[in-house]
Amino acid sequence: MPNRKLQGEFNKHGLPRQIPNPIKREVRRRSGFGCVVCGATVYTYHHFDPPYADAKKHDPKGITLLCAECHSNATKGLLSDDTIRKKTKAPRCLEQGSSHFKLDIGGQFPIVHFGNSLLVGNPTIIRAFGKPLFAVDRPEKSGAPFRISALFYDREGRETCRIVENEWHGFIANWDIECTGNQFEVHRAHGEIAFRMRHVPPNELAVDRLDMFYRGFRVIIQPDGRTTTYLPDGQMWFQWDGASLIGNNAVIVIE
Ligand SMILES: [Zn+2]
Repeated sequence: MPNRKLQGEFNKHGLPRQIPNPIKREVRRRSGFGCVVCGATVYTYHHFDPPYADAKKHDPKGITLLCAECHSNATKGLLSDDTIRKKTKAPRCLEQGSSHFKLDIGGQFPIVHFGNSLLVGNPTIIRAFGKPLFAVDRPEKSGAPFRISALFYDREGRETCRIVENEWHGFIANWDIECTGNQFEVHRAHGEIAFRMRHVPPNELAVDRLDMFYRGFRVIIQPDGRTTTYLPDGQMWFQWDGASLIGNNAVIVIE
C-alpha cells in the first residue's frame, strides 16, 4: 500500500519537497537571511520560477524566502510573481542591513536559559563598563510585555545580532543566519556559531550557544552548555556549569 505521507513529499516530477541544505543556504545568503518582501527573520522557502508543482529540480535562482504573511498573500494572488521576482533581486534585508522579528514576550518576568544555567528574575544578564549588553526591563505599563534587549559583537567589534525591546535583528554581514522552527542561529563564519537562541513564548528564552566579545573580554556558551569567560589577555576568568542564578541584579559584570 503506498505511503500517503511519502507521496505528499514529492511533486508530479518526483522532486522531493525537502530542499538540500547547500541550496537553502545559498538562497538565505542571497536574500539577507529574511523574507525578501518585508525582511522578517521567520520565513519559508518559496519556489516561484517555476512553482514547486512544476519544478524538475531545486534551482536556487527560482527559490526565494517569504514569511508566512507574504507567502499567504502570494498564494491568494495579493502579491504578484513580478514583485517577488523584483524583491528577490533587491531583497528587503539587503536594503535595511538586517532581518527582524518581534518576539512574543509575556507579562511575567522571562526565564532565561543561558547554556545549561538558569537565570530567573535577573534584570541585567550582561553589563560592560556600565552599558547593559543583555537586559530585561519591566513593562512600561501594567499588562504590557517585559522588554528584552541585547547587543552581541564579534571579535572584530561588529554586531552579529541584537534585540531591541523584544525585536530581534540579525545582521547581513554574518556568514549565515538560519531560522528553523523557534530557533535562530547566527554563524559568524563557516563552522563558527556566534549565537543560537530558542524562544518559547510567552516567557522563556534559551540562549544555548554564544561567542561574544566586548573590548577584548569574551563570553562563550560551549556546545555542552558550560559558560566560559576570558579576560582580554586570554586568561580564563570564570566558568559556570549548570548554575542557577535567581534574582541577582547583574549576572556578568565586565569592567
Ligand atoms: Zn514577509
